[in-house]
Amino acid sequence: MKVIGLTGGIASGKSTVSRMLRRKGAYIIDADEIAKEIVKAGKPAWKDIIEHFGRDILNDDGTIKRRKLANIVFSDEKKLKMLNEITHPRIVEEIKKELEACKKRKEKVVVIDAALLLETGLDVLVDEVWVVAVDEKTQIERLIEREKSISYTEAMERIRAQMPLEQKLKFATRIIDNSGDVENTQNQVDKLWREIEKTCEDSPYEM
Ligand code: ADP
Repeated sequence: MKVIGLTGGIASGKSTVSRMLRRKGAYIIDADEIAKEIVKAGKPAWKDIIEHFGRDILNDDGTIKRRKLANIVFSDEKKLKMLNEITHPRIVEEIKKELEACKKRKEKVVVIDAALLLETGLDVLVDEVWVVAVDEKTQIERLIEREKSISYTEAMERIRAQMPLEQKLKFATRIIDNSGDVENTQNQVDKLWREIEKTCEDSPYEM
């Protein structure tokens, strides 16, 4: 089984690339989906979050006001650290569980799609690190376009809270440049997929 860690900044195009890889046949472990799952009402992380951030961050139905919580933590480094300490170990634990299940099912290629792959040390679990790169101007434009009501300042806060791209690139086995159009990115993914298939063929006993 080949395990690829797919990472990159917010709105760099990780989901776009992971969709392309899914169409190729990769199994995707989506850290964002897991992050949403573990904070559902009643779960241990949800309880810890209320304990630290108060009930003001809850909607009437008990779900977390994601936007409100995001605004609190992205303007206060200590609070972001606190939230990460609550959520990250649980996300990592779930990812490890999914990875074990993939091994049992004998998946050929598994992609861990995680913005915080490197920050959480998940990269020790992967064979290759693929970094989706985009220039900051395009990143901000796409982030604002996707989130609609986010301001320029909020967009910058979210980008600055993450590990800078040039640092991420130091860990990269492969780089996917998503500054161009989707077709251009698809071509890069097609090429990388052919190479991955080749390495799988070359090591049949790993499968
Ligand atoms: P991430 O998962 O890294 O946060 P997304 O894949 O959601 O990023 O991409 C961010 C936004 O930019 C989305 O709205 C997406 O549709 C758009 N997008 C991604 N890649 C491109 C591209 N090459 N050209 C134009 N828009 C893109």
